[in-house]
Amino acid sequence: MQRRELIDWLICPDPGPLLAAADRRRRELHGDAVELRAIVELSSHCRCDCLYCGLRRSRRGFRRFRLGPEQALATVREAARGAGTVVLQAGEDLRLDEARVSALCAGVRAAGDSALTLSLGERPRASWARWRAAGADRYLLKLETASPRLYARLRPGHALADRLGALETLRELGYQVGTGNLVGLPGQGAEELADDLLLLQRLDPEMIAIGPFLPHPSTPLAGAPAPRLLDLTLRCLALARLLLPRAHLPATTALGALLRGGRELGLAAGANVLMEDVTPLAFRRRYELYPGRALVEEPLALRRPRLDARLRELGRRLASGRGDALPRALHPPASGGPA
Ligand code: SF4
Repeated sequence: MQRRELIDWLICPDPGPLLAAADRRRRELHGDAVELRAIVELSSHCRCDCLYCGLRRSRRGFRRFRLGPEQALATVREAARGAGTVVLQAGEDLRLDEARVSALCAGVRAAGDSALTLSLGERPRASWARWRAAGADRYLLKLETASPRLYARLRPGHALADRLGALETLRELGYQVGTGNLVGLPGQGAEELADDLLLLQRLDPEMIAIGPFLPHPSTPLAGAPAPRLLDLTLRCLALARLLLPRAHLPATTALGALLRGGRELGLAAGANVLMEDVTPLAFRRRYELYPGRALVEEPLALRRPRLDARLRELGRRLASGRGDALPRALHPPASGGPA
């Protein structure tokens, strides 16, 4: 698809054919199984100051946390018991250093066959190499926008080119790479979203997280969410599925925070992954990336059957394996639009 066609699909009155085509493509390649990823939030400290984020360094007046080594390990074990992939996530907190994260990687390896994704921000190549050697399979590092100008404004002191270089480094180290963008950022219209999708197509990542931008009230971007946010996010998901058929595509937790049932809409628009947070509840409340996060207390092992039952009502089911990437050689990025 060319840029003009992407823009047309983002603004046309009826997205029905687009969403249906993405759903068909998802079924052809990924089947009806939905991969489950269990997220453990390790720390809400961050050295960065992203304008859109509730964890930004300049935000004062809320209690941050960092899980202690024992608590982190116990949570990681719960995650590994309940899902095929464990995701260790945090702000860019340098006190989560090489040794500490390596120990957690070893903890996941010892807990079973789950795959391990890290999402700990930009770190030195040596740290990424050590964590890879300690058993990390995947790394998630989001772009949020393909516009260098918007990126520099939203992430003061950072440049999009450095982020792209970091993704390249991760791939060189053998990680399955995840990235993605936010929909509904100030200064972002259909043209910018089309550029985001084209950049994703060029990068051809193994996982793509596309979520709605939900402004946090304690950030400089506080205010109402953008108009048509749900609609635009679903269209972007569907276009990503068509451009990058092999990618794992989550129906993000932010989609569920935007609208009850939002994740189910994402699953019908090409998504094939659900994320469930297993961070102990007292800490999860303090990991405020955006407002309105779901706070389910139930252990993941008990949540699984309920999730599976809900998915079966939609003609889907929970997957049982690690949910690794489909081989790139068999499924290159696509050029066509909805058939
Ligand atoms: S988006 Fe990530 S890097 Fe930026 S402030 Fe939030 S946690 Fe830190």
